[in-house]
This record gives sequence, C-alpha cells and structure tokens, in this order.
Amino acid sequence: MSSDKQAQTVKKHKLNFAFREKLGTFAEGFRHNYCYQCGACVADCPASNYSKEFNPRLIILKALLGFEDELIKPDSEIWSCTNCYTCSERCPQDVRPVDVIIALKNMCYSEGKAPELIGHISDTVLVTGVTTKITSLSERRRQELGLPPIKGYPVDEIKKIIEAD
Ligand code: SF4
Ligand code: SF4
Repeated sequence: MSSDKQAQTVKKHKLNFAFREKLGTFAEGFRHNYCYQCGACVADCPASNYSKEFNPRLIILKALLGFEDELIKPDSEIWSCTNCYTCSERCPQDVRPVDVIIALKNMCYSEGKAPELIGHISDTVLVTGVTTKITSLSERRRQELGLPPIKGYPVDEIKKIIEAD
C-alpha cells in the first residue's frame, strides 16, 4: 500500500479503544502507547529491508488506532517479523515494538487467527523443547563446522512452564 493510501485509510478510521484495551491484556501489549512515530525502528529492521510492505512504525500506529481487522488475521503483516529485537534497541521511547508485535501474535493465536504453521511449531516445542526439529543433517553440518553436538533439552521443564501460563 502506498503511503498516500495508508494516510487516507488512517483518516477514515474511527478509533477502536476496545481493541487497545484487549491488546493491553496480553503481556507487553500496552507499550505502543508510548510511541511518537519517529520511525527509528524501521531503518535497521531486516523484515522492512526485505519487504517494503513491512513497517514496524506502521504496525504500532495501527495498534494505536485499533486496526484490528488488518492486524489480527493469519496473513497479517505481523507474521513477517523475525523477532530479532533490533527495533527495541533503536527505539528512543522504549516502546519495544517487537514485544507489541508478539502481543499481537499472541492475540491472533488465542482467537484462532494464527497461521496453521504456528500450531505445528507449538506442537514441536512441546515434544522436542525447540522450535525446529534437530535432524541428522543439522548434526552433520554442525560436525563439518566444528560445532559440538546438540545436547537434549529439558522438555519436561519446558512443558511445565507452558502449562503453568
Ligand atoms: S522507534 Fe519507537 S517511538 Fe519511534 S516509531 Fe518506532 S516504536 Fe515508535
Ligand atoms: S523484531 Fe521484527 S520489527 Fe523489530 S527489527 Fe526485528 S524484524 Fe523488524
């Protein structure tokens, strides 16, 4: 979407305070309230550099205005965020945009609006303790690179933590 079109969409939108309140019930889902839209979070964002459609400043603005239909859906732009935390290091307001994005992702999941793949990843964590299965190929590559073998993860402890939430 061009910035002119985005500006038009923002102008026509009625503030959705109910969405803001709902987002605030998720961990760190209130931090966007401190954003003053400086854009410092965008410059070094790898997802923004990869795709012009992705913009953490704009996601925070949409959260502030309550663009629930755009943010909370399986093909929402939020899923392009890599959780690298660069934006959090850049933000002068300590908004921690990635934490707001994670809160948005959690809202998607709790409302059954996350991409199907996310459910598979959660299942993998419950069984293996990590998000990606360790295969013989990854072990072989580690050996080639002179890295030590991956030790087992405390799956039972991870399960306990997840179930306690
Ligand atoms: S850097 Fe922080 S204050 Fe600036 S636009 Fe991004 S989230 Fe908002
Ligand atoms: S955490 Fe997400 S939004 Fe922040 S810099 Fe990394 S990819 Fe961009």
